[in-house]
Amino acid sequence: MDTDPSISTDEPRVKRSFDQMVFVNRNLTMENIKCYGFDMDYTIAMYKSPDYESLGFELIRDRMVSVGYPHELLRYRYDPSFPTRGLVIDTTYGNLLKVDSNGNILVCSHGFCFLKGENIHNYYPNKFIQRDDTERFYILNTLFNLSETYMYTCLVDFFTRCNRYTNLMKGFQHGDLLMSYRSMFQDVRDAMDFIHDTGILKGHTIKNLDKYVLKDPNVPVLLTRLKVAAKVFLATNSDYSYTEAIMKYLLDNSAKLGSQKMSWRSFFDLIVVDTKKPLFFAEGTVLRQVDTDTGKLRIGTYTGDLQHGTVYSGGSSDIICDLLEVKGKDILYVGDHIFGDILKSKKRQGWKTFLVVPELNKELQVWDQKKNQFEELKHLDILLSELYKNLDSGSQDCPDISAIQTRMKVLTYRMDMSYGQMGSLLRSGSRQTLFASQLMRYADLYSSSCVNLLHYPFNYLFMAPPVLMPHESVYQHSADFVSSKLTVANTFAKMNIN
Ligand SMILES: [Mg+2]
Repeated sequence: MDTDPSISTDEPRVKRSFDQMVFVNRNLTMENIKCYGFDMDYTIAMYKSPDYESLGFELIRDRMVSVGYPHELLRYRYDPSFPTRGLVIDTTYGNLLKVDSNGNILVCSHGFCFLKGENIHNYYPNKFIQRDDTERFYILNTLFNLSETYMYTCLVDFFTRCNRYTNLMKGFQHGDLLMSYRSMFQDVRDAMDFIHDTGILKGHTIKNLDKYVLKDPNVPVLLTRLKVAAKVFLATNSDYSYTEAIMKYLLDNSAKLGSQKMSWRSFFDLIVVDTKKPLFFAEGTVLRQVDTDTGKLRIGTYTGDLQHGTVYSGGSSDIICDLLEVKGKDILYVGDHIFGDILKSKKRQGWKTFLVVPELNKELQVWDQKKNQFEELKHLDILLSELYKNLDSGSQDCPDISAIQTRMKVLTYRMDMSYGQMGSLLRSGSRQTLFASQLMRYADLYSSSCVNLLHYPFNYLFMAPPVLMPHESVYQHSADFVSSKLTVANTFAKMNIN
């Protein structure tokens, strides 16, 4: 009797839906992870969208009016279909840009007006920006930035359309007053800092926790299970009193020792607040102990051993490794900030990284619904290469590709619009965004939520799909599914694995 040489299918299979999956850029053996670190905001604590961004927007808008901006601005309401994370503000010309990893412009808007071909070239002759020029270009990397992205767009929209002001290349004129795009950007940034630093945003959040913070019962389950397998720490830029309010809401009453209820702090081996990431992953700041009764910081630098249940403030990633007695390579750090959490911990400390991308569920949904459009885009690519296939340097023919190019533009636009007015977080047509390239480079794993780790055993081997370089993909390996199964079977046979 013939036996199927493929891997046994008898084993029970765990079926994960797409929104429960963790995606892999680089292989990661969970068994080797000795310590799990978590950011808090938008990682353990998920804010409800769009209510929370809407609150942020209204607080910034009101602040702008209170420092002297026109009252007409109060008419603007937050529209979640407009901003996408990862956009770039050009503070010289007031444009909002979506760019790829090299700074090539994919989408450009001025207020709510989207610019096309000629108009983009007037501002950017090479359709390119030097994004390292951080004085001029500001990247809106975080989910907190969505409200300010929208605020800035409203300002540009208002002044462009208001006939009291004259439109200039770099701003607006009203009598002897010049409102430059740069000064407006600075004012939005200041308003944003104001609502964060004065605690206004935090105050509103704490007063309405049910409205703004998602209470996910899987969070305590995940933390409890992880703590059996490894050490667990929390490292947040938030201050102690806010961290306490949020974590209490999410975790208190979830842990019990016998009949005794335990504090949220018992879920962690170490808690650090005021981390000042990304500085935390470099020289850091002074490590102090927090008095959990008063919320005040003890004076002096803490130099003792790790004390369970103690909350620390400041410090650095090196100090945390010493206190927990773990090496950077043994840590899996979970955060939502591509720069402050993921890029810096990977680049400077060699930590393993897990990026939380809450937008991913919607991205997957649209990707599934619109996959025919993407297939057509790919097909047009093949069609283009077919047209040039039999031409060489002696050819006089010049194929007419304008119809194909027009169709590609239409498809790209339609795909973009399915995600929102600024399109997908990760792509524009067949081109990937700066955010997507950073995600692939710095996040070992990524998922829409950290609780999706619950769907995998803690000894799991996360395997990255193999990616071919262009020169490798010219060979059409006839290796189809059958022969790849045989290869797997042969490899197992060689290794004496049944
Ligand atoms: Mg965060």
